[in-house]
Amino acid sequence: MNTSLQVWPIPALQDNYIWCVHDGQSAVVVDPGESAPVISFLQQNHLQLTGILITHYHADHIGGIESLLKWHSSQVNGDNLAIPVYGPAAEDIPFRTRALLEGDQVEFIKPALALGVLEVPGHTLGHIAYFAQARGTEPPRLFCGDTLFASGCGRLFEGTPTQMSESLAKFLALPSETLMFCTHEYTLSNIRFALAVEPNNADLLAWSSQAQAMRHSNQPTLPTTLGHERQVNPFLRCDQAPVIQAASQHANHRQLKNKAEVLAVVRAWKDQF
Ligand SMILES: [Zn+2]
Repeated sequence: MNTSLQVWPIPALQDNYIWCVHDGQSAVVVDPGESAPVISFLQQNHLQLTGILITHYHADHIGGIESLLKWHSSQVNGDNLAIPVYGPAAEDIPFRTRALLEGDQVEFIKPALALGVLEVPGHTLGHIAYFAQARGTEPPRLFCGDTLFASGCGRLFEGTPTQMSESLAKFLALPSETLMFCTHEYTLSNIRFALAVEPNNADLLAWSSQAQAMRHSNQPTLPTTLGHERQVNPFLRCDQAPVIQAASQHANHRQLKNKAEVLAVVRAWKDQF
């Protein structure tokens, strides 16, 4: 019963990654913003699509759902093998078959992939993330949508800095070795900003060279790990002296009272960067 899972990034649209989790036979995809690259990936690897997971309603995360479902039903010749589409209860997700709330569990590719739901408002108000605990040889994994990026975080389109700070605190409570499956390749530009905040962060400087080398050879910089992000991501370091000092200085030396106030300044700074 020890099915080992693989997780592959399917590059899509401008700079999205659609993550495909599979065991060599059954596959689920996370946030299919378009269908064509997913279909080619599944065909090339002889995989059967068994589910779709959605983190939030933005078009670049849901745009491929309808054509994937149509393609799937043409594959199974009308057999009624509808695949489930899981998504946040608080958002309008087309073709959703199950609406998820904090603490809900979903299982795929039984028994290997069991995911718990975290509500993480900030980027959008209904945004959710999916967390798989370590299990046998499987590492802990987080599918975090547009809440967290390597060395960055999502824009606050709908939520407040306090909401985002609390959402990121849920991630910070996960095991350090958690693999973080973010949905955009924004890493190099995020690192440029992170270095403006913390120019003397040695881990960040080392990561900058490493990430540039990865992009030069056209490799994804993801997944990252939570432990690594704790060292190099200013949005997860809003309680660290160098980030607090840089944010305060950026805010005309205003005294920042808590992590959420630091995050508010750093996020607004990044929006203008
Ligand atoms: Zn988004």
